[in-house]
Amino acid sequence: MAVFVGLDIGGTKIMVAAADREGNILRRARIATASSLEEDLSNIHNMITEVVMEDEIMGIGAAIGGPLDWEQGIVSPLHQPAWRNVPLKAMMESKWNCPFHVDVDTNVAAVGEYRWGGIAVGRFLYLTLSTGMGGGFLVDGKIYRGKDSAHPEVGHQSIHFRSSNPSAVQCECGAPDCLEALVSGNGIRRIYGKSAENLSPEEWVEVAYNLGQGLRNMAALYAPDVIRIGGGVAVGGRENFIQAARKIMEEHLKLVPAPQVELSRLGYDTALRGAIAVAFPENNR
Ligand SMILES: [Zn+2]
Repeated sequence: MAVFVGLDIGGTKIMVAAADREGNILRRARIATASSLEEDLSNIHNMITEVVMEDEIMGIGAAIGGPLDWEQGIVSPLHQPAWRNVPLKAMMESKWNCPFHVDVDTNVAAVGEYRWGGIAVGRFLYLTLSTGMGGGFLVDGKIYRGKDSAHPEVGHQSIHFRSSNPSAVQCECGAPDCLEALVSGNGIRRIYGKSAENLSPEEWVEVAYNLGQGLRNMAALYAPDVIRIGGGVAVGGRENFIQAARKIMEEHLKLVPAPQVELSRLGYDTALRGAIAVAFPENNR
């Protein structure tokens, strides 16, 4: 039968899945990210062979950290120093003899949530809160891109924040007041000295306040119909955290109608399911 393959290439693990024409995952594999590019590529090829078995590959989609050139398929994920200027599209197309499409992980996750998470609105913003923080904005299902195809970095907006430990608020990009530095896994670890899963209820309130201020800015600028939030921090904080952030957004948002704010429906598989979605030619524009 015909299958579509999705790759989620992350800094700690690589996941591969083969899916049918309806996007149902048939077989999947995962492995820890290696320290060399050669080893990662060899693992990816082996896992594709394993999940595809005797089936015919119609297309391969991939999610990876930016920066990257999605048209040429050349990737240099910031948090994977072994991967620099890798011509992934050319490599994969010559090896597997099928179309290959790669995009920034948060764009791919947005497409996955849209395609398989029951989104039927024109303006959809997907946010991921994991080690770092980012987003993907879709207009009628199509990825919004900036100047020279630049990926908008919603995690690096300045936030009017509250913090019980303000001197520890420091973004990895160098700025002292980014949303990512306040609500991402790494940011939470710097500020509170522990992982998100160990935060006290009072600390969650503070993180939700800061996320709410970020949602308010994004709602004011994008005026989306729906914002969905995924990634380990959001999934760990669950519905209470998301609804507390939504409340802060609504209190501060004037003039623009408040979007629906929801937890991701695809849990930890959003980028992988998105990679399967962008393997379909109609989803990778
Ligand atoms: Zn930043």
